[in-house]
Amino acid sequence: MMRRAPLGMMGNFTGRAVALCSFLACLAAGASAPVPAAAPAQPADSGALHAWQGGDDPASLERWVHAHLHRADAAIARVVAVKGAHTVTNTLRPYDDAVNQLALASNQASVLYGVGATGELRDKAQALTQEANAASTALSLNQPVYRGLAALPAPADAATRHYLERTLLEYRLAGVDRDDATRARVKALQDKITELGLAFERAIHDDVRTVVAEKAQLDGLPPDYLTAHPADADGHVKISTDPPDAWPAQRFANNAQLRHDLFLAADSVGYPANGETLRALLTARAELAQLLGYATWADFAMADQMTGSPARLRDYLQKVDDATRAPAEREAAALLAFAREREPSLTQISDADARYWQEQYRRAKYSFDSQSVRPYFPYTAVERGVIATASRLFHLDIRPVSGVRTWHPSVTTYDVYDGNVRLGRIYLDMHPREGKDKWFSTQPLTLGVHGRQLPEGTLVCNFPGGTAGDPGLMQYSDVVIFLHEFGHLMHHVIGGQNPYAGEAAFNVEGDFVEAPSQMLEEFFRDYGVLASFAHHYQSGGVLPRDLYERMSRADTYGRASGQQRQLMYTAVSLDFHTLPPATLNFDAVFRRNFERFSTDAFVPGAHMWASFTHLNGYSSNYYTYVLDKVIALDFFAQFDPHDLLGGPAGLRYRQAVLAPGATQPAAQLLRDFLGREPNLDAYRRWILAQFDAAASTISSAAR
Ligand SMILES: [Zn+2]
Repeated sequence: MMRRAPLGMMGNFTGRAVALCSFLACLAAGASAPVPAAAPAQPADSGALHAWQGGDDPASLERWVHAHLHRADAAIARVVAVKGAHTVTNTLRPYDDAVNQLALASNQASVLYGVGATGELRDKAQALTQEANAASTALSLNQPVYRGLAALPAPADAATRHYLERTLLEYRLAGVDRDDATRARVKALQDKITELGLAFERAIHDDVRTVVAEKAQLDGLPPDYLTAHPADADGHVKISTDPPDAWPAQRFANNAQLRHDLFLAADSVGYPANGETLRALLTARAELAQLLGYATWADFAMADQMTGSPARLRDYLQKVDDATRAPAEREAAALLAFAREREPSLTQISDADARYWQEQYRRAKYSFDSQSVRPYFPYTAVERGVIATASRLFHLDIRPVSGVRTWHPSVTTYDVYDGNVRLGRIYLDMHPREGKDKWFSTQPLTLGVHGRQLPEGTLVCNFPGGTAGDPGLMQYSDVVIFLHEFGHLMHHVIGGQNPYAGEAAFNVEGDFVEAPSQMLEEFFRDYGVLASFAHHYQSGGVLPRDLYERMSRADTYGRASGQQRQLMYTAVSLDFHTLPPATLNFDAVFRRNFERFSTDAFVPGAHMWASFTHLNGYSSNYYTYVLDKVIALDFFAQFDPHDLLGGPAGLRYRQAVLAPGATQPAAQLLRDFLGREPNLDAYRRWILAQFDAAASTISSAAR
């Protein structure tokens, strides 16, 4: 995506949970979620707020997107036409109108590119996302608009001043003050980067692999999974790489060959096609960065972030490595010793088997079988529970809306209220479909403009459930991902109440956006929260306290190696955007970093980078997850462990961190809530909790 539009927004923000290794899912029997009757398709109204109102007709989508691009052009023309003094009213407001119209066009085209019902619609949406992003790039290089904004006297209020200053900074970083030839080359490269990024992700959406297993190889999987995966006449069972299918098999199957085959299938998605696409993408990024005076893309992409530069980032990452490396080695040694009790010939655990052995280890050492909690997490109850949790924590009322036409009948819709004031609308598109985006993300649909337009956003996920007769039993780590994405959604809605579209929440520094999401993950650790919705899907019984305690203790194991893995992805994303792309050996660089941060055996033939979609969305800045995990745990430590939802911290957090959106620098939001600079203390306690029996659960402290 275009990283440097002065709009301060990426065309396709994807805040993605990265719990790349944990999971299970799927079952049969029970009722599926009722699907509200949809309103009939409206004739394509080019002025309407939603791109999907014309149904699945690609031509209708095109008319809709073009209408918003024309409105953006008209707003830009108003800025350029100003005679005499530039003011906030005659310059910043129409500029922001253009930002808003371009965001509508690119966000909604981009969502339909990932979730559109037909291949034709997704093709059209892909082309239109490209077109809308090209229009944003053109605005980022528009000299008359830049001169108009630069001529504005400093606005009196701090928020508007910050918006203007940040916009001007983004213009300069985009290269607006370069000569005509340079700007033309920048434009061409930006457009190419958008095109290649979309092609990279699309190849992943469209590439579902299947492993054919013998029925006997499914030994170890839960009964509901076996019911949902009956063998054919020859005794064969097909397992796809979609998360609800593949993840339980990788975690629970006792058969090492099946685990290996599934691992290789999942790590072959996008390969080999994406090799050429990725090289072209990295080449275009490197050329653009150098054209604008930066040594590498990583330097360029961090210039407007909290970190500021790769050098500063390196110091920070060293501290995280220092906090996690030794505990991760202890975790790995314990795991290998355990596995060798079962298989004495084992000298190293294969990456394909790591999840399986971790599950076995947790069963033996913590008496916790993660299959035992799944019946308490049927999808629809979890949806209710996550919404109830967020409502109470943030003092909101989130009400279902029926009769809303969306892009697919399975999508559910809610309005978010503060008292009687409607703050925005959210959509949940939660189960896999053919051709749909295969990951978990939050995407804005509209940006909030106070008094004029409410923020709307959607989750695009691939959780179990959604088909008749399947209650969608979720693994506990699925619930954590749900909370993560809901944290993004709340940030978008609560932080979307400002006077300008460009002040929307996701326009804050990009390396802060994974803090509100990872903060909400921690609320999974509260028994009171879980007991409110974790009821057995058949008996209705509440998740037993004892089971919860064992789950919490088991969950502390593996944190350090999980963070080392995040450092590995961080290093891959940095190396790919720092080393010369022409000679970059993706497999070798990936493997080198894998071996730097993991004691597991690398699986030859794995090409995980080919489906690493964050290389498009976050480019070199995957470190965002690691940095923001530290911040999220620092935030969470401010909550009263005895009363997580009821204490005053929730409202204070909403007001200090979420509500400002992008009206202040992220560093200021941190200081306002914490009352000091952030530090690694809470993070270190979180990592070490597994070695400290007394501190291993919040609940034992809270009792
Ligand atoms: Zn995220």
